[in-house]
Amino acid sequence: MNSLPPLREIIARHGLRANKALGQNFLLDGQLLARIAAIPGNLEGQNVYEVGPGPGGLTRALLSAGASVVAVERDDRCIAALDELTQYFPGKLTVMPGDALAIDERKVAGAGAHIIANLPYNIGTALLVRWLTEREWPPWWRSLTLMFQEEVARRIVAQPGNSAYGRLSVLAQWRSEAAIALKVHRSAFVPPPKVMSAVVHITPKQAPDGVFVETMGKLTQAAFGQRRKMLRQSLKNLPDALECLGNLGIDETRRAETLAISEYVNLARAIGPIEG
Ligand code: SAM
Repeated sequence: MNSLPPLREIIARHGLRANKALGQNFLLDGQLLARIAAIPGNLEGQNVYEVGPGPGGLTRALLSAGASVVAVERDDRCIAALDELTQYFPGKLTVMPGDALAIDERKVAGAGAHIIANLPYNIGTALLVRWLTEREWPPWWRSLTLMFQEEVARRIVAQPGNSAYGRLSVLAQWRSEAAIALKVHRSAFVPPPKVMSAVVHITPKQAPDGVFVETMGKLTQAAFGQRRKMLRQSLKNLPDALECLGNLGIDETRRAETLAISEYVNLARAIGPIEG
């Protein structure tokens, strides 16, 4: 590691002025990066999929922890900057130029990979929802260790009755364990973003029987799409939903944010598959 140039030098040499549109806020503190890389456990011999390596700070920490890394990066300037890292860890790092939203990630990362990333804030939620709504469960990924704006991290782990409780909370918790593993001060980033950040750690658990993920997706979308409304209003266009509420003894005058995860599970199971 000693003969790798400091990240600041890489950034200067490759002219990596942060591009706001690409959500670029870089982490340069090696100790902090090593702590993030340690969150999923021992990475020796493990496969890791990283979205947005940027100048490669987190990538270095992952490689130093013994992982093999496949990283997808949209900014060509960073691709050139990552070349040195590829050479320093021969056969351990594959950098794929491209858009993480468009790539066949399961194919490039391989089954059983840990997903670890300091996500660009503008696509973080879309990627998370995609990873949480895999039809197959347990999914192809082994764990998620993801940096989000703290407000998003709070939504992921929120409990019923909390104002942050919403669609992300239910999707993250009905068949996964989700926890905030680390809070990160805005000053740790270059440039510092306006808000604080946090790393969320998510691992799949046993999925409840008989629940279709598409139904859970549509149910949570309908319920929290109108979170201030009573369920009888927000769920009225979801086939069979109001009848199932009645059968389960869930009061239709309740609001989405009061339902426990287990009530969403029971409701989705009772509704069954939804066409289209
Ligand atoms: N991992 C680096 C770090 O921790 O310092 C950089 C993190 S920065 C928050 C987000 C990175 O994602 C940037 O390098 C940016 O270029 C990249 N990025 C943005 N949109 C992307 C996309 N659609 N696909 C792949 N990478 C993307």
